[in-house]
Amino acid sequence: MTQEFTIAVFEGDGIGPEIMQPTLEILRTLCRHGDYQLRFQTCAAGAAHYAQSGEALPAASLKTARAADAILLSAMGLPDVRYPDGTEISPQIELRKVLHLFAGVRPVRIFPGLQTPLALPKDRSVDFVLIRESTEGLFHTQGCGEVTQTEARETLLITKEVSEKLFAFAFDLARSRKAAGRGTGRVTCVDKANVFRAFAFFRALFDAEARKHPDLSADHAYVDATALWFVLKPWDFDVLVTENMFGDILSDLGAGLMGGLGVAPSADIGEAHAVFQPCHGSAPDIAGQGRANPMAMILSAAMMLDWLGRRHAIPALGQDAARLQLAVEDVIGKGQMLTPDMGGNATTRQTAQAVLDHLRPA
Ligand code: ATP
Repeated sequence: MTQEFTIAVFEGDGIGPEIMQPTLEILRTLCRHGDYQLRFQTCAAGAAHYAQSGEALPAASLKTARAADAILLSAMGLPDVRYPDGTEISPQIELRKVLHLFAGVRPVRIFPGLQTPLALPKDRSVDFVLIRESTEGLFHTQGCGEVTQTEARETLLITKEVSEKLFAFAFDLARSRKAAGRGTGRVTCVDKANVFRAFAFFRALFDAEARKHPDLSADHAYVDATALWFVLKPWDFDVLVTENMFGDILSDLGAGLMGGLGVAPSADIGEAHAVFQPCHGSAPDIAGQGRANPMAMILSAAMMLDWLGRRHAIPALGQDAARLQLAVEDVIGKGQMLTPDMGGNATTRQTAQAVLDHLRPA
């Protein structure tokens, strides 16, 4: 019997719906061979919804997300719509916390056609994954830090429970990348263990996990040096794992290496749930103009297919993830039908159509 997967879809704000709709069309086309089926359930949430209803993440949407097999999210938040304390509406961060999505997966891969600012030596290729812990770290007191007239405090939290899961995830990923011929099987713990006790604790937990994986290698790097090496020798990395705020900053640097946010996908993965969304925000400055680059959204959808395929042992899902990734690479490699952020003049829909046209047969 064909297995059906329910996907909770958050179209979000700004360019969110513009990049989500063509992505759903691509997913519908991909699964036409019938080896699995996808059923999409739209969920209300985000800044526009908050402005209208007073709720950023309605209970009904959270219930749908919890019951779904995977969650596909575009972008949420608008600069002019804020909570009374002045912070932006970001239900995606709330989802990470309530669904315990501890592993923020940010692939950094430079393939032909991407406008990387790096002058890469010919014999070097960049293909690494940054894993950002996404539920604690310096985001622990988000929204409830203490602020007085003279001081402000936020607390960084590192727990053994979450760190152990995070590091196990990182080593598993390194193992599967090595098996696929995409990495050397090395995990780098990125921290600041020379200055903060919390990071020495983080590192000790990493070392304990590393000892369980004698088939893989493990090392450490300080976050400041890592930022430098991202620019000077990014080909040197395989899997990196780090705290929430360090990961937040390094993942944008990683997107920069790929030539911009418009091509940077991501996944936030826990034990029971996972959210797939582009690294970029809702880009209100270009919303409604048909200029949004759908590639990061489409690549995030490919990550979702890959994750579902591994989780449910359905090879067709993994194959479709690879077909989609390749189609994106083909379109970008040809340098045609690209949106303005990539130097082209195609619309969001034309770019997405080009991806559909480049899908190889199943
Ligand atoms: P957030 O804080 O929610 O991540 P942000 O304020 O940092 O969002 P974005 O919304 O990601 O920023 O936008 C940053 C810049 O990148 C804007 O100029 C925006 O137009 C551009 N941008 C972001 N995503 C895309 C995209 N998919 N296509 C084209 N341009 C984009």
